[in-house]
Amino acid sequence: MACVDCESAQAVGARFCPLCGEQLRPEEVAPVSRILRDDRPGEEALARRLALERLAAELSSRFVDCPAAGIDACIEAAFAEVASFLELDAIALRRLNEAGDSMILTHRWAADPTIRHFPIGHGLSVSETPWLHQLVQSGRAFRAQDLDDIPPEAKQERNLFQREGTTGMMLLPLSYKGRPAGYLFVQIRQENRQLSSDDDTLLRFLGSSIFSALEIRRAEEDLEHRISFERLAAELSAELINCPIARIDEYIEGALRQVGNFLDLDSVALRLLDQTGARAILTHRWVSAAAEVNFPIGHALSMSEVPWFVQRLKDGQTFHVQSIADIPPEAKRERELFRFERTTASALVPLGPAENPIGVLYLQARKRKKRLSSAADDALLRFVGSSIFRGLERKRAEEVLAQTIHERTRELAASLERMENLNSVLTQASTARDRFLSTMSHELRTPTSAVLGYADMLAGRYYGGLNDKQEEYVAAIATSGSRLLELLDNLLEVSKIDAGAVKLRQESIAVQDLLEAPVATLRSRAEEQGVAVSIESTPDLPMLMCDPARVDQILLNLLANALKYTPEGGRVTLRARREDAHARIEVSDTGIGITPEHQATIFAEFEQADRKRDEALGGIGMGLPLCRRLVRLHGGQIGLESTTGKGSTFWFTLPFAEDAPVATASAQPTVGAESPSPIPTAELVLVAEDNPMNLRLILDMLEALGFRARGVPNGVAALETAQEMRPDLILMDVRMPVMDGLEATRRIHA
Ligand code: ADP
Repeated sequence: MACVDCESAQAVGARFCPLCGEQLRPEEVAPVSRILRDDRPGEEALARRLALERLAAELSSRFVDCPAAGIDACIEAAFAEVASFLELDAIALRRLNEAGDSMILTHRWAADPTIRHFPIGHGLSVSETPWLHQLVQSGRAFRAQDLDDIPPEAKQERNLFQREGTTGMMLLPLSYKGRPAGYLFVQIRQENRQLSSDDDTLLRFLGSSIFSALEIRRAEEDLEHRISFERLAAELSAELINCPIARIDEYIEGALRQVGNFLDLDSVALRLLDQTGARAILTHRWVSAAAEVNFPIGHALSMSEVPWFVQRLKDGQTFHVQSIADIPPEAKRERELFRFERTTASALVPLGPAENPIGVLYLQARKRKKRLSSAADDALLRFVGSSIFRGLERKRAEEVLAQTIHERTRELAASLERMENLNSVLTQASTARDRFLSTMSHELRTPTSAVLGYADMLAGRYYGGLNDKQEEYVAAIATSGSRLLELLDNLLEVSKIDAGAVKLRQESIAVQDLLEAPVATLRSRAEEQGVAVSIESTPDLPMLMCDPARVDQILLNLLANALKYTPEGGRVTLRARREDAHARIEVSDTGIGITPEHQATIFAEFEQADRKRDEALGGIGMGLPLCRRLVRLHGGQIGLESTTGKGSTFWFTLPFAEDAPVATASAQPTVGAESPSPIPTAELVLVAEDNPMNLRLILDMLEALGFRARGVPNGVAALETAQEMRPDLILMDVRMPVMDGLEATRRIHA
């Protein structure tokens, strides 16, 4: 064929005229065979080579431009062109599979489409065609003019070629990036057709162009795979981090399933080390629909059985077993397991830190060839492994927390029970103490009262006069009895307050009333001592909220002390003034004062500034401790200021009544003006008292005063006697056997 523009002859496959540079039309492009036959010898070879080079260049640029999706069509078109150029009967491409043990037919062109023996995808295994595999590994091209050129050891291959009616052939091993990758197979069925070394060059060129294109496509696919896997790994990681802890196992199983599906595997399982680290327990698993389940969940694999696995996992890296041949013969149990599960390829991903692994992720392909070892996949599998590890750690932390809470709750319940027991013991002890106190109070005070009463009767000379000695002794009995009674009262009072047994009877009362009561009680004593007592109170103080009897007790104590320690001619002053939300009440004297060292301890039980002196004055050191307790019961404070030789001021505070009006002094009685009410005269008196001594004393006293009196020992007797006797007055004891005084009084009233 010639260019229509300059009429020069054109080479096969050329698109542009080499002389005028014009683009050639389809009808101007010469088929190779025509040119070869048309051209003269000598020039013929040259022109053929030229055309061949052009075709190679053309094919190469076409492959470079070819999009990944069109690569197969491109290859087939190139096969057709090269085959027609070289007058071949067929060209085929076989590529080594992932496992490297089979040559897979991927592309083919045949002049006669009716003679197709092998379908696309057909594999030639190592065992079927060992010679062919060896040839590919060696990288050496093999050319045969007829089948006799095929070496005798390639018997199986020879049969194959024969079946296809091959006369001449060329096998061109191809490699990619230095590794055997497959071969190009060129077939001739014409007896006299031979391939030249130029043909070799073109074919090699074709092969390497195809492989580059295919590898680019594979790289693109790999990239796509990697991006998808990365996305999947990131999604799984996010899910495992965010999922509710109660559903973590479900999420882990989901992750195993997704990884298994994505990598087209048959099983992905998780084995976790038990607490001793001696056994790996199958805890989670996914198995593809096609695969069988072998080990049940919970299956324990002893680490000592599989030392080779353990050793390989030690460096914290993923490791692969691509075939049973990768497991050394001495690792018997490992080989057995590999075979038992019909594993064809597996990957083991250690979980947790290398120095302290918690288990392994075990990925398997079964019954079919599968390669499982791309570095990118390994990295992502480790990432998935670490996400699972973090999920499991969360779960473990939660379990530890739950366990701790459980234990703490149990401990708490136990200590609560202990506390309750203790409490009930304490309550019993407290009840026993209260009972003891009230019994003591009754049992000790009753005879003491009798002692004092009889002494009083003797001193009153109701039964005749006493000589001086007798009078002295009776006075001594009375003084000692009074001290004993005071001691008992104070002790019992303090103990009761400490036991919480004292309840205040709070009421709203004017300060002035509170101050006047104790002064009235002790006025005569003050006068006897020649000590002046006065009250100075701010006029508009609000009402106080307190138990007046208790405040009287406090004031009596402080006032009595002041009188005790103030010599004749001295002065005692009671003051009240406002101090913030409280009233401050003071008892000041011009007495002997207290040294600073004693001021610090004087409120403690039995503390006295000078024991010998104070005891001689009838003190026992329980007054101030009692005052302090009573003030505290009211929510107030107590203290003192004192200068030795000049005097002391004892003060305490009491709360005002809420919204209390200012107290008016109108209703206040005048100090000392109150005269004792006259004793109502009653002729017939019934006395109910269980203590015979006291009963006797009361009856004697009544008789001495001119009454007719009868005594009974309990409430029931009182009830009966009252009915029969109809007395004018009944003196009823409260605590009595058989029936107490309250009940008896109720019945008498009824
Ligand atoms: P008692 O008066 O029974 O000894 P108190 O507890 O009332 O016990 O007082 C303790 C001690 O405080 C007294 O023994 C005395 O030494 C000292 N004391 C109390 N009030 C005064 C006071 N107004 N002046 C000097 N000393 C005092």
